[in-house]
Amino acid sequence: MTLTAQQLPLIAADPARLRTADRVIAGLGLPADGIAVHDPATGERIASIADVDVAGSLDAVARADAAGRSWARTTPRQRADVLHAWYALLVEHADDLAHLITREMGKPLAEARGEVQYGADFVRWYAEEAVRPRGDWRESPSGGSQIVTRRSPVGLSVLITPWNFPLAMATRKIAPALAAGNAAIVKPATLTPLTTILAVELGRRAGIPEDLVQVVTTSSSSAFSEAVLRDERVRKVSFTGSTPVGRTLLELASANVLRTSMELGGNAPLIVFDDADLERAVEGTLAAKLRNGGQSCIGANRIYVQDGIADAFVEALAERLAAVRLGSGLGEDTTLGPVIDDRAVRSMQALTEDAVAHGAELRVGGTAVDGPGHFFAATLLDRVSPESQIAQTEIFGPIAAVQRFSTQEEAIARANNTEFGLAGYVFSESLDRALNVADALETGIVGINQGVPSNAAAPFGGVKQSGVGREGSAEGLEEYESIRYFSIARR
Ligand code: NAD
Repeated sequence: MTLTAQQLPLIAADPARLRTADRVIAGLGLPADGIAVHDPATGERIASIADVDVAGSLDAVARADAAGRSWARTTPRQRADVLHAWYALLVEHADDLAHLITREMGKPLAEARGEVQYGADFVRWYAEEAVRPRGDWRESPSGGSQIVTRRSPVGLSVLITPWNFPLAMATRKIAPALAAGNAAIVKPATLTPLTTILAVELGRRAGIPEDLVQVVTTSSSSAFSEAVLRDERVRKVSFTGSTPVGRTLLELASANVLRTSMELGGNAPLIVFDDADLERAVEGTLAAKLRNGGQSCIGANRIYVQDGIADAFVEALAERLAAVRLGSGLGEDTTLGPVIDDRAVRSMQALTEDAVAHGAELRVGGTAVDGPGHFFAATLLDRVSPESQIAQTEIFGPIAAVQRFSTQEEAIARANNTEFGLAGYVFSESLDRALNVADALETGIVGINQGVPSNAAAPFGGVKQSGVGREGSAEGLEEYESIRYFSIARR
């Protein structure tokens, strides 16, 4: 179903906020020609970025590799000082970064400010982690040797990021790479490159050496990865994005046996039991569903609600979703921004139509808005069939798809019936039940009675086809280190 803008009123951008965003873009000093970057709320071209070819990408490899040799010899304290200074500049420029995130990616400004703090937190975390290099001393069981372990930088790291969190996905990789003593090539998504460009520029002003972090923007990402991941100076690739692209990169990485970290797609189950606190469950579901307009890898994709609480839960959720205010993220009252592009609008329409054709009840929304901009209303579908597409694929948009269940065993079996395993959520006031179900879920992350489990201190990552490796926390640093040992003869 498509509505006109008159039928579904949109909140327009606040002119003062728009001016701030455009001033920040003008300050980036971008080329007049190149790859166009658009505002998803208006469809308007807002900037151009350089389109780097293969020769340019290999030049970036050469520069980063040279700068990395000196950086690997810096002390942990020197690296920590640079990261602390970078954190301070990110916080000082939080408003500029947030406006830029909203203008190129669309999320409401309040959420963009949240992303700036979340993204900056990784830089602070790894500034603190950098001065705690780990190593140990071990005795060989049969005597005769002492074993000393130490960590060395893994080597030049290629960091490929998606469009949905343009700051946080970049800092979550760059900060641990630098803390561990590595140089980095960052390839942001061409849909949202501006925030990464500003963040790295702030890093340079904070003291990151000139060539150490290279931002490469290119319209040919496959030519980039074919050339760069086969270059012998590169030792590591860290990717956040979809599972199909992740598979391609794993294959490319096999040529030179690169270290890999893969943060891939999700299909998160969110389970609400009869003994859940209704208000907490509704709040948590809204957060897990609508954060980032539903365009989050840990977004609640399949909402399973137990029969006894289902009617009350669906009523309460419907009321909250009907009150969502759709519009430009630069609008004062907006609570839901645009989706990223027209393809996403069409995908939301197709998923809704297919779900209804399979018997789902459309309770709220279900409507796209005619352009300009790419808008889809907050939507609630009840009694979704497990056979419908929406129950099997990553939605990546503002549609809450509710399925009902009767027993705990049934909920766990249905939740685990997917090749993905990134995040899951459990709502129950019984500690035993919540922990037992969390244990049984085949996911790397479980939110218990909460909808936003992300945190710089947590080892974020998936199991099954949602990825390999962890980001954030001490485990995130290990992804950029090689463990070595010296075996010392002992008489
Ligand atoms: P995508 O896979 O299409 O693109 C991600 C990045 O990879 C972009 O920079 C893109 O330009 C680049 N890319 C695409 N093909 C490439 C190739 N052959 N070689 C090198 N680079 C290539 O994903 P997207 O649409 O930008 O992001 C959405 C996806 O990301 C969703 O599946 C979501 O679940 C996932 N995601 C996962 C996490 C996580 O932490 N697990 C976090 C955010 C997003």
